[in-house]
Amino acid sequence: LAVGVLSEHNSSEHRVALDPSATARIVHSGMAVLVESGSGTDAGFDDHSFAAAGATVTTRADVIAKCDLLASLGFPPDSVTNSLNSGQAVIGLLDPFNNLDAVRGLADRGVILVALELLPRTLSRAQAMDALSSQSSAAGYRAAIVAAESFGRYLPMMITASGTAVPAKVIVIGTGVAGLQAIATTKRLGAVVTGYDVRAASRAEVESLGARFLTSSVAAGTGEGGYARSMTAEEQAAQQQELAAALTAFDIIITTAKVPGRIPPLLVSAQTLSALKSGTVCVDLGASDKGGNVFGSVDGSTHTTVDGVVVVGGGNLAAQLPTSASQMYGRNMSAVIDSLASQGAITVDPTDEIHASIVVSHHGGITSPAVRAALN
Ligand code: NAD
Repeated sequence: LAVGVLSEHNSSEHRVALDPSATARIVHSGMAVLVESGSGTDAGFDDHSFAAAGATVTTRADVIAKCDLLASLGFPPDSVTNSLNSGQAVIGLLDPFNNLDAVRGLADRGVILVALELLPRTLSRAQAMDALSSQSSAAGYRAAIVAAESFGRYLPMMITASGTAVPAKVIVIGTGVAGLQAIATTKRLGAVVTGYDVRAASRAEVESLGARFLTSSVAAGTGEGGYARSMTAEEQAAQQQELAAALTAFDIIITTAKVPGRIPPLLVSAQTLSALKSGTVCVDLGASDKGGNVFGSVDGSTHTTVDGVVVVGGGNLAAQLPTSASQMYGRNMSAVIDSLASQGAITVDPTDEIHASIVVSHHGGITSPAVRAALN
């Protein structure tokens, strides 16, 4: 079997789907790895490091033509997918629910699609494959660093001969994997940190990091797979109102609230944003082209409101930690490849809970029940 790696060809994407260590592991298990020349440059891995790990460094066209299994970060562009043939597989964070037409087209052509978002994350066997967690962790860490960089004051308390600085007050809204990492990182920088989530279960995790927990009166509870469920319009309005009252006390607001398959909830409304103190920094990890957690946030760009609030749209902050994020993604990817490749072939076992969840298409049809339901 040959595993292919392409440059992600996107100005805001600096990660690569396999790093040299993951490459070496895959080569060691008897597979070939074909890497497009220059794919790892932005992540700090040159062609020589891939070659030293046992990969063949070659052209983009050669990788596409010869690989059985394409390791990818996001959904590959049309220029790649148009050249894929029946029996070739693509593994990545393919965001199938936002790429339904492309998924259907590739499934019809016999391409095997494997979407890492669909992993049953609570299974202990799946944890080494959990790319959502590894990338959320990198994004949460970066969110804290970006917030500190954009903030005009110290984060820790400072008592010096030249005066005293009070510690910054940080609130992290949405305390899943990214939020907990943002809490841990801003705590390490010395800020006074509060966490807020609609899942009551997250209180213990927030408090175990030494942060306070702000209890939501809108207890949405925990839905399927441990995720928050989507809220009704009334609940959203009530939540915006309760946050409006609480948020003016904070200097840095980091939002990470997401519900799988849904547009991220708007938590910092236009009105709340205009009531925040000048110099407040909002970093919105929910930012997307369909809207985010903070009013007016634009994914990948930063602006300052007329009231002096800095709004950072950081929907893909993991890409700003490209070396570490790629190393962890590579570990996830090699675990998935290991599970799917056996005896020189891609073997999908429908009785394996992990395969049944992550394999979207196989043998010319859509096999994932969740994606099939979305297509109907
Ligand atoms: P996510 O990225 O889907 O969402 C981020 C957070 O936003 C979640 O904590 C969610 O509750 C919160 N949220 C959603 N709507 C909100 C709203 N309106 N207001 C405030 N907060 C809101 O979540 P995630 O980081 O992928 O993690 C989801 C859950 O899965 C967590 O409980 C996490 O601990 C769990 N998880 C478990 C494992 C495991 O068992 N190995 C691995 C990964 C994640």
